[in-house]
This record gives sequence, structure tokens and C-alpha cells, in this order.
Amino acid sequence: MHFFDYRGNRFYAEGVAVEKIASDVGTPCYVYSAKTLVRHYRAFDGAFSGVPHLVCYSAKANSNISVLNTLIKEGSGVDIVSGGELYRALKAGAEPKRIVYSGVGKREEEIEYAISKGILMFNVESPEELRLINRTAKRTGKRAPVAIRVNPDVDPKTHPYISTGLRQNKFGIESGQALKEYVYAKRYLKNLDLVGVDCHIGSQITQLSPFVDAMKKTGRLIATLRNEGIDIRYLDMGGGLGITYSEEAPPHPGKYGREVIREAEGLGVTLIFEPGRVIAGNAGILLARVLYTKENGGKRFVIIDAAMNDLARPSLYGSYHAIKAARKPKTGEEFEVDVVGPICESGDFLARSRELPPLKSGDLLAIMSTGAYGFTMSSNYNSRPRAAEVMVDGDEYSVVRERETYRDLVRGEKLKYST
Ligand SMILES: *Cc1c(COP(=O)(O)O)cnc(C)c1O
Repeated sequence: MHFFDYRGNRFYAEGVAVEKIASDVGTPCYVYSAKTLVRHYRAFDGAFSGVPHLVCYSAKANSNISVLNTLIKEGSGVDIVSGGELYRALKAGAEPKRIVYSGVGKREEEIEYAISKGILMFNVESPEELRLINRTAKRTGKRAPVAIRVNPDVDPKTHPYISTGLRQNKFGIESGQALKEYVYAKRYLKNLDLVGVDCHIGSQITQLSPFVDAMKKTGRLIATLRNEGIDIRYLDMGGGLGITYSEEAPPHPGKYGREVIREAEGLGVTLIFEPGRVIAGNAGILLARVLYTKENGGKRFVIIDAAMNDLARPSLYGSYHAIKAARKPKTGEEFEVDVVGPICESGDFLARSRELPPLKSGDLLAIMSTGAYGFTMSSNYNSRPRAAEVMVDGDEYSVVRERETYRDLVRGEKLKYST
């Protein structure tokens, strides 16, 4: 459920007409709904109200500091995957003790930064990383809390680019080897606290069974670790719960919660979750204007001022985003069109073979479900300044990131011979 809809014949973000935002701020422009973010967070967090748990919103889905701050104020922790995300999380007001740090390629200075801030735990993805964290903790006179990210070898039945829990993926450590690493670390890596087991199997998962399978495997590992005298306190189940972009029918967080709680019974752990998409995905839209329309070889094209550099998902995964006209069409008439951007790549499309009402130059469109992996995956390709970001709350909105300028495009660049 989200708060983007028509009122009369005009499209609104909560209490603000999107036409108003577009004419004030320009396009392309991301618009986030604070009430939707809060609603999604509460639905997810509420699903675990009966058991010890911590929701750590996954910053990579949408890391604008206003988005982070909105969720942090609701009690959320943050799941980070880089030093840059740690910086953002702290800037947005996150408590270090509610931050977990995942990712296969943490650099030493990132590890040191996170240790110095006192984060809740590192989700460790390789034996070498485990040893580097131990050395870094020792060198700085600290201890580092860690979980090993187990690769449970389950098929999340999602797009291959966002499957992470299969044996052949680069993520995590296969569970037999993970057990050996815990035992080794307990004996020899004296600056580590072995506090958790972690597992994140993929993204945009629309069935419960992969999560349940992963929990059964991690549950068995936790029991074995207890027998080895390693007292695991946290089970981090990662993120990955899917959302509705088109026709998908993912389980409601409440149902996901009931299944997970049943599987976790008797484990005696605090559950950690790292939801990203399910919180932010349907809490954002991308506004764009039609520049031109044309026909080529019998195909109709709508050329808009947003492109693959603003929203990569259609080009990268062939993913679907609904498109709404800011003015409700007067008739039910529709035409099949490709909605494309100005970038010099045939892969630059936002929608293909889509039935849309008649559109003309100047018309404003809302590209739906772009709150997650929208702005955070954007780039400056074709020297396009990145879009503005706006947050609506009730009848008001504020610009939470200014549109980039041409000057921003060359920041840090120098002519070769200048001093
Ligand atoms: C991307 C990611 C998440 C968030 O995934 P969603 O599908 O957006 O919920 C959580 N944990 C880790 C380790 C990730 O890489």
C-alpha cells in the first residue's frame, strides 16, 4: 500500500499534486512518500513484535539521508555495505549499535572505520576477511563483533543478478566451511566476538519457501555452534522480500513474520532483518516529462527526459515499472509504445511495448515503484546531472537532494597541465 494516486484527474503524492512538484523542482525528479516509508516499516517491524528482533533497513535500496532519518526515527537500524553508507547512516542519526555491515569486499580502512564507531556486527563473507577484521581489531586495541554470512545453497527463484544464496554465487561461505571457520576463530582469532549467523539469499523474492529453507539450514548451524561452545546471539536473515511492480503477489510481511517466527522457535536468538525494497520500493516514483514522440518502422516511441542513468532497472534486469500520466486520460484509448530516454544506447528504455494513453510533448509521467534501487543506482552517463530528490509528507514537500549542476559534473577534474 502506498500514498500515490489520482485525486479527481490529477496524480498526487500524498497531499501534493505531482504537477506542482515538477513545475517547482523540474524533471527528472524522484519523489518519496514519508507516510509510505513509515507504513511499510511499521508493517514489517510489527510482524515481529512478539519476539526479540531488530530491523536494519538496507541502505543500498535508497540511501538519501532523509529516507534513512525517517526510518531511524521509527526505530530502524541500518544495514550497510560500504564505508560511504556508514557515513550516511551516522549522518542520518543511526546509533552504531543498530548498524550491521555486509558485503564481500570490505577494505581495511572501511573495517577500521566501522570498528572505531562500534557497530553491532560485521557480516563476514570470506575466511580472509575474518582474519583481516581480527588483525584490524587487534591493531587498534579493540574487539570486533562478527557473524559469518552463510551461503545456504537455496534457490530464491528470482532474477539471476539478484540471487545471492546459491552455491555458485560470490556471497557468503558454504555452511560446512563456515562451521570450521567459527571453530578456528574461537581458538585463534582472539579479537573477534562470534555473536551471529547471517544469511541473505537474494532480492525480490515472492515466495516464502526459500526463506524457510534457509532458516532450517542456519538453525541447524546455530545448534551445532552451541555444542561447540559458541554462543550465537543473533540470527540475521537478511532482506529480500519482494514487492508488487506489476502482477507479482509477494507474501505480506505479517505472513513472512509468522513463518520466520515459527522456524526460529527454540533458537534463543535475537532476529535481525535487512529489508530494503519492501520498505522503499513502492514509497517512491520518478517524475519525467515527454520531450518528443515519433514513429520508426511502425513502432511508436515516447522520448522522455529520464533515462537509464536515472533508473537503471529496466535496462539492467528488464524490469517492469508501471507508468501513470499526471493528468488522468479522458478516454480509455491506448497505444503500444516504447518509452525511452535520451541516452545513446538502444538499451536505454524505461518501458517496452507498453499500452499507454496518447501522449504529447510536455506531458508529465510518473514512473512507479522506483523508491528502491532507483536513485542509488543512478549515474552521470552521457554527462547527465543526477535527478533531484523530493520527500512529501502530508501536504508539504521538501527537496532532500538538489538536482546536480554542470559544475558538479566536473568537480575534481583537472586539465592535464594546470596546477
Ligand atoms: C541488497 C541487500 C539487502 C536488501 O535486499 P532487499 O531485497 O532490498 O530487501 C539486504 N542485505 C544484504 C546483504 C544485501 O546485499
